Amino acid sequence: MAEAETKKEKYELKDYRLAESQQLDLDNLLEVCRNNLQSVDEERISKAFKLCYLSHEGVMRASGEPFYYHPMAVAKIVASEINIDDVSVTAALLHDTVEDTDVSLEDIEEMFGETVAHLIDGVTKISGVFKSRDTKQAETFMKLLLSMAEDIRVVLIKFADRLHNMRTIQHLPRDKQLKIANETMELYAPLAHRFGLFKIKSELEDLCFKVMDPTSYKFIARKLREKKEARESFIEEFMQPIRNQLDEMGYNFEIKGRPKHIHSIFRKMQRQQKPFEEIYDLFAIRIILEDPHSKEDCWRVYSIITDWYTPIPKRFRDFISVPKANGYQSLHTTVITQKGRKVEVQIRTRKMDEIAEKGVAAHWKYKEGSAGSETLEKFIHWVREILDNPRPEAATEFVKDFQLNLYQDEIYVFTPDGELKTLPNGATPIDFAFEIHSEIGERAVAAKVNGKMVPLRKELSVGDQVEIITGNKINLNPDWIDDVVTHKARSRIRQYIKQKEREVVKEGRKIWRKHADRNNIELSEEEMDQVAKKLDFKNSQYLFYDIGNGDYDVKKLVEYAKQFVSKGRIDEEESEKPPRTAQENYEKYYETARARDEGNALLLNGEMTDIKYSYANCCNPIPGDDVIGFISRTGDVKIHRSNCKNTRHLLKTDSERIIDVSWATNIDSKFIGAVKIIGEDRVGLINDLTDVVSKSMKTNMKSINVNSDSGMFEGIMTVFIDDLDHLDRIIKHLKRVKGVKMAVRYE
Ligand code: MN
Repeated sequence: MAEAETKKEKYELKDYRLAESQQLDLDNLLEVCRNNLQSVDEERISKAFKLCYLSHEGVMRASGEPFYYHPMAVAKIVASEINIDDVSVTAALLHDTVEDTDVSLEDIEEMFGETVAHLIDGVTKISGVFKSRDTKQAETFMKLLLSMAEDIRVVLIKFADRLHNMRTIQHLPRDKQLKIANETMELYAPLAHRFGLFKIKSELEDLCFKVMDPTSYKFIARKLREKKEARESFIEEFMQPIRNQLDEMGYNFEIKGRPKHIHSIFRKMQRQQKPFEEIYDLFAIRIILEDPHSKEDCWRVYSIITDWYTPIPKRFRDFISVPKANGYQSLHTTVITQKGRKVEVQIRTRKMDEIAEKGVAAHWKYKEGSAGSETLEKFIHWVREILDNPRPEAATEFVKDFQLNLYQDEIYVFTPDGELKTLPNGATPIDFAFEIHSEIGERAVAAKVNGKMVPLRKELSVGDQVEIITGNKINLNPDWIDDVVTHKARSRIRQYIKQKEREVVKEGRKIWRKHADRNNIELSEEEMDQVAKKLDFKNSQYLFYDIGNGDYDVKKLVEYAKQFVSKGRIDEEESEKPPRTAQENYEKYYETARARDEGNALLLNGEMTDIKYSYANCCNPIPGDDVIGFISRTGDVKIHRSNCKNTRHLLKTDSERIIDVSWATNIDSKFIGAVKIIGEDRVGLINDLTDVVSKSMKTNMKSINVNSDSGMFEGIMTVFIDDLDHLDRIIKHLKRVKGVKMAVRYE
C-alpha cells in the first residue's frame, strides 16, 4: 500500500518539469519523430520520456552516461532508422523499465494503454531469453518468434535495442564484448536479413566484426579511408555528364557511391581469395529518384546512362518489373567507362530504396497496394501459421522453418551444391528432378534426400537437400503422373505417355504391313478401321496398339483381312465383346510393361519402389543373400551380393551409385542358383543327382554340366529356387547322394 503510494507520487508526471538539458533531449527526440513518422502523439512521447528519465534516474551505463541515454537512442533508431510508429517510440523509451526499475507492466498499461504495455512485455521477454546462458540457439529463436507473433513491432524494437548496444559496445569488458558480438552475429544479423532490414544487418555485422576480428577490421577500414578520395573523385567524374543531363531534364535525385560494408568486403576477399583492391575496385553507384518520380523515370535514367557508357548486357537485371520475393525493386546494370572500368549502377525510386534498406519495416510508411505490402501480409500470415501449430519438441525444425518457409504454400529445398529451389507443397524428388532439367527428370532412377536414399515418389519437406541419381537412358515411369505436382513434370510425363503410345501403334502398323505385303492384302485406312471395329476395336489405332504390344496376334488379322477382301463382307461371328476403351488399352499396356520390367522382390530402403532392376550375372544373388544395388550407367539397378568381388570394386570406385536394397518377404518369382558338386564318378550318378533335385525336392533344374576325369567328376548344376534357404536344403540333399564329396554354392 505504502509502496504503491510512493510510486504514484514518484511518477505523478503531469506537473513534472524536466531540467533544461533533458528538455533539450526530449525536444530533439520529438523533432526526429516529426521528421520521420506520419503522426506523432507528442504528449504521450513526452510522458514516456519523463517516466523513462525518472525511473532510471541515478543509474549509469558502462560508458558513464546516464542510463536514459540508451532508451532515448533506441527510440530515435525506431523513429528515424526503422520508421515504425509513435507507439513503438513510446515503447522503446520504456523498454527497459519493467525489467530494471520499479515500474510494473500494470503501471505502463494504466499510463500508456494496452498496446504499449504489450510491446514492452514482448521486448522484456525476448531480453530474458537472451540473458539465460544455457538456452540453445534454436529455442531462443523460437521464443523470439513467439513474442513476435503478438506484434511484429516487438522484434523491430529489439533490433533497435541491440543496434544501440552494439554501437556502444566498446565500453564493456572484452569478454562481454565477444559474447554479445557472437550472439549478434549468429542470431540478430540473420534475423534482420530475414526481415529485410538490410541496412541494420550490415551495420550489426560490421560492429560485430570489429569486435571479433579487430585486426582485419582495421586493415580494411584503413584501406577504405586511403581510397576514399580517389573513389569520390572517380564517382564525380563518372556521374558528371549524367548529372548534367538529369538536371537539365528537371530530375530530382540523389547519388550514392554505395560504400561496401567492411564485413562484406572481408567476406568477399575470403570467399574469392582476392586482395582488397580487386574486390573494392568494382565501383557501385546508386541513383535514387525522389518522389514523385515513377518507375518509367528509372528506365529513362537507364537509357541516359547507357547513352554515355557501354552496358554489359549479361549484367542487366530488371527487378522493377519482376521484384524479388521480399519486395526488392531496382534496375541493375553494369557499364564500362571509356577507360575500361566497370561500374555497377542501380537505379530506383525513393520508395524502392526504402523498401530495399528497411524491408518489412518500410511498409509502415508505404501501406498502399504494392508488391511489398503483399509480401508483408504473407509474412505475417506465415508467422501466425507457425505459431498456431507450435511444436516445442522440434525446436531445431522450427528454426529451419523460420529461416526458409517464408510462404507456406511453397517449400524450399537445396541442390547438392546448396542452391535453393522453390517447389510447391507436396513436391517429390521427381518434381525436383524435372525442375532442375527435363533430362534429369527423364533419367532419374533414385533420389538421395539429406544423404539418404529415398523412393522417388516420397514427398519432400522444407530444407531438404535433394540429389537425383540418373541413368544413361530414359527411365520415365508413366505412373509418376500421380506423384508430381509441378506443371513441368506433369506435362513432360503426359507427353511421354502419348509418345510411348504412338510408338507402340507405329510398331503394330509395321508388323501389319509386313504381313499384309506377304499376303498381298491391301486395305485403305477406312477399310482398316472397319476391320478393326469388327474385331472389337474402337478403330485401327487401337488394333495396331494391341498388335504392337503383342496382345493381338497379327495372324488373326491377316486371316480376317483375307476374308474381308475376298468376300467384301464381314463374318459376324467374332464380335461379342464391346470394344476396349482407350483407358483399358493403356492400362493393359502398362500392366504388361511393368510385369516385364520390374520384379517385386526388392525393397529400396525398406520400401517398395518403382525402381527397375536386374540381377548381376557375376554373383546371381538370391533372396536371403545380403545384397546391394548398383545404379548402372544405363539407369538399371543391378543387384549384387554384397560380398561379390565386383561389389568390393564398385564400393571403391563408384560408391555414390550404391543404394541400399533388401528382399521383400513375399516373392513369387524364381531365382537361379548354382551348385558345384565334386565326387567319385559312378554309373547312374547323374541320375541320382537329378532325382534328388526334381523328385525329392520338387525343384526344377535348369542345367547340369559334368566333367569326369580318372574316376572323379566335377559338375555344375543350376536350379530354379525360391530363396537361399531353398538352395541350402538342396545342397544338403545333394551331399547325401552316394559318392558326393562336396556340394557348395557356385557363383
Ligand atoms: Mn535496452
